Amino acid sequence: MMSKTFASQADLEEKRVSFEKLSDHAYAYTAEGDPNTGIVIGDDAVMVIDTQATPVMAQDVIRRIREVTDKPIKYVLLSHYHAVRVLGASAYEPEHIIASQDTFDLIVERGEQDKASEIGRFPRLFRNVESVPAGLTWPTLTFTGKMTLWLGKLEVQILQLGRGHTKGDTVVWLPQDRVLFSGDLVEFDATPYAGDAYFQDWPQTLENLAALKPAKLVPGRGAALQTPEQVRAGLEGTRAFVSELYAAVKTGVAAGRDLNTVYREAYAALEPKYGQWVIFAHCMPFDVTRAFDEASGHTHPRIWTAERDVEMWRALEGQ
Ligand SMILES: [Zn+2]
Repeated sequence: MMSKTFASQADLEEKRVSFEKLSDHAYAYTAEGDPNTGIVIGDDAVMVIDTQATPVMAQDVIRRIREVTDKPIKYVLLSHYHAVRVLGASAYEPEHIIASQDTFDLIVERGEQDKASEIGRFPRLFRNVESVPAGLTWPTLTFTGKMTLWLGKLEVQILQLGRGHTKGDTVVWLPQDRVLFSGDLVEFDATPYAGDAYFQDWPQTLENLAALKPAKLVPGRGAALQTPEQVRAGLEGTRAFVSELYAAVKTGVAAGRDLNTVYREAYAALEPKYGQWVIFAHCMPFDVTRAFDEASGHTHPRIWTAERDVEMWRALEGQ
């Protein structure tokens, strides 16, 4: 296998931003496969779902919001704990930052390591990283399972429908509009990152999302899905990738092969079908390493640190 620059340190190409309306209450800020932000506009306030990676980057989200409403941004919702989703929070000056208790626990347990690791992997996604306040982004409201936020007459359901991308995965559902914000549980034309995943749970969690019968869906990465057919394609594509990767790795582990061999086999098996999805080469080493652990009996993902990232990459990619 060719040796590749560590993670996405060589990815410097700026993406084009789209700001799309999904319903009277829902907008999607997307950028050709870079991390998305969702916006919910209620009667009296705005909620932002995932913040962008830095306060300077979040200012562009705020600028777009101000083109469609002057209502105050009162709530930030974190779909999960990853730095690229949470470190822009301070820009919104929200009254509350909402997250599941499981996400809060992950920030306590591994927030510092994750911050250093993610910035090292993908510098372009942390534009003006010096604008991130010292320390971590702390939720001010946590919940377990389900909470409902009423923005005037608009019902906003905040739900944990199972583990997948992380232990704390949270989705936002607008029952009146049938719009779902999935976070990284669903990606579209973008490779699911599974370095902190629960492979055996993820497909069932996607079925739980599908059972809501969303008419529209904002994925964690990729274009906003504007029709039920596109929603199905997003859910099914993510399920297929996660299931096929785990099946390939499980077979190798059961046969007693080492991580390096399993990695090469899984890469060769998945590349023909998924190699054109953005960040495929970036995600595969992390995804296969986590799948190898899970198939070897490690129920919970090990903590990634900047040092562990580089060691793993060197072992699998020869740099
Ligand atoms: Zn994530």
